[in-house]
Amino acid sequence: MEKEKKIVVPGDFLGTSEEFTPGSGVYDEKGNIYASLTGEISINDKRVIGILPKVGTPPMPEEGDVVIGRVEDIRDTVAVVSIACVKGKEKREIAASTQGIIHISNIKRGYVTELQHEFSYLDVVKAKVIDAKALRLSTEEKDLGVIKAICAKCKGDLKRKENALACERCKRVEVRKISEDYGKGVV
Ligand SMILES: [Zn+2]
Repeated sequence: MEKEKKIVVPGDFLGTSEEFTPGSGVYDEKGNIYASLTGEISINDKRVIGILPKVGTPPMPEEGDVVIGRVEDIRDTVAVVSIACVKGKEKREIAASTQGIIHISNIKRGYVTELQHEFSYLDVVKAKVIDAKALRLSTEEKDLGVIKAICAKCKGDLKRKENALACERCKRVEVRKISEDYGKGVV
């Protein structure tokens, strides 16, 4: 029996499928297992790894709230974000299905031509709720945007290098709408 108590956020690398069997709150991508929820890691004696979300009444994000979520889909004009938690209310888990959207016009100041240059699948983003009903989010402010991202080629962690992100493993360089809190491990 092995137990670990560590809080992880969506997209955190947990281990490989050779080491663990994916349980709930995780996803397997090319043999690597990542957290899909914010919560505590749990590993049982059969090596099934899962995430235990914090239980409670799921708060609905309100206008002005800052939320943390993971980019689940990139379309022509919107990025779909699965909201993991509300800043300042981290102890209460958002309902797993809560999704917000970032419209291309709310990504940053100035004109965005390609949404794909600002966000990528599985990025962890910090965003502000600008419309609570439709769950529209904005990442215009400096501290908002991508706070964690993985390399599209090798799935390695991307490190900030001035205004771009670089993969230490394969040297690939990617661009994003980067939060000034990128890689600091704080939400
Ligand atoms: Zn890479």
